[in-house]
Amino acid sequence: MEQTFIMIKPDGVQRGLIGEIIKRLEQKGFNLIAMKTMNVSRELAEKHYDVHRDKPFFSNLVEFIISAPVVAMVWEGEGIVAATRKMVGETNPLNAEPGTIRGDYGISIGRNLIHASDAVETAQREIALWFEQGELTSWQGALQNWIYE
Ligand code: UDP
Ligand code: MG
Repeated sequence: MEQTFIMIKPDGVQRGLIGEIIKRLEQKGFNLIAMKTMNVSRELAEKHYDVHRDKPFFSNLVEFIISAPVVAMVWEGEGIVAATRKMVGETNPLNAEPGTIRGDYGISIGRNLIHASDAVETAQREIALWFEQGELTSWQGALQNWIYE
């Protein structure tokens, strides 16, 4: 089953949106298979955002991610990488559609609440970066047949 890495950024935590974000993913039918609240080290933040290392916003982004706790999660489900990117919405919350997390709750690009892996290979890299193999659970929801045909 496809997995993705989701992180509620410090602004999402501070604004009390942990429950709302989890609720959306849970009610969609996806399975939460790992979750932890954590203070992110500079090293981890820089590795996570390595692809943006040369961008002008890189240092602000890293400083922000390490500034207060985040909630790191792994979620599982069919087509979850593409589906969660849609549920998260565009990077700039002012361009994100209403009904998306960023569209409903954000305004600034540097305070866009949540990270979601952008491709299956990215998800695999990010899950391995943030979690030990033993931290991932595996379970079949009792409603599986009511969610999947
Ligand atoms: N970001 C920013 N300024 C920009 C572009 C991106 O502060 O001009 C931040 C923003 O928080 C974004 C993160 O850098 O979520 C990673 O950028 P990416 O393009 O990967 O966006 P995402 O995949 O999160 O939508
Ligand atoms: Mg990205």
